[in-house]
Amino acid sequence: MKRFVSMEEISDGRLYGADDMVRAGCGGCEGCSACCETMADTIFLDPLDVFWMMQGLNRSFASLMADRIQLDMADCFLLPRIKTEPGRSRCPFLNETGRCSIHSFRPGFCRLFPLGRFYENRSFRYFLQTGECRLAGRTKVKVRKWIDTPDLERYETFVSDWHYLLRDLEASITPGDAEAVRRITLALLETFYAAPYRLEEDFYPQFYERFPAFRKQHLPGAPGPTADASC
Ligand code: SF4
Ligand code: SF4
Repeated sequence: MKRFVSMEEISDGRLYGADDMVRAGCGGCEGCSACCETMADTIFLDPLDVFWMMQGLNRSFASLMADRIQLDMADCFLLPRIKTEPGRSRCPFLNETGRCSIHSFRPGFCRLFPLGRFYENRSFRYFLQTGECRLAGRTKVKVRKWIDTPDLERYETFVSDWHYLLRDLEASITPGDAEAVRRITLALLETFYAAPYRLEEDFYPQFYERFPAFRKQHLPGAPGPTADASC
């Protein structure tokens, strides 16, 4: 989700690239699961997160929607997030020993935290959220290592394309046009989540089979907002 905040307030004032060192290391969160206890209801899932989840759990999107994913308002559209019990924010993937039971295919948000993304000029860089991790004495680690995501360059391109698709769609809607929001929400869900992926194949070609046609159909081509922070 995007946040319009003062970077001085929430960060160390620096922007980082994938090969920069950042003080984000928290020793594998050993003995602490505070974030997974308190933030799961804010973890929205992009199409790759859901692809990983379908692969890792060997389940369809429809089946995940029954007990692991729910739709919630993300800025403008209803999009999937981790399902939590009503009024609670504990992640259902947190196991009884306080560890992530889907660590190898956890969502991008979980890989990133306590870093966030600062989007600008149709791209993004990373920033360190200084008030989020409660651990004192965090260590320096390379951003690329911290994010622990294969094929990071392709991943970053996808993240940027998905972010700006949502921002451009939002900018294309006349304020108060609930029918347009409903129509685009349904199209996003159907095209990028519910329409089956070949789980044994690479995600990115399958995403980009859908992406250009979707943009062409739903966007007149005008670029949307160019700067915001997302965590
Ligand atoms: S998916 Fe894993 S890392 Fe992410 S909030 Fe849930 S338990 Fe924590
Ligand atoms: S507060 Fe820090 S150490 Fe604890 S779970 Fe969150 S990131 Fe890990």
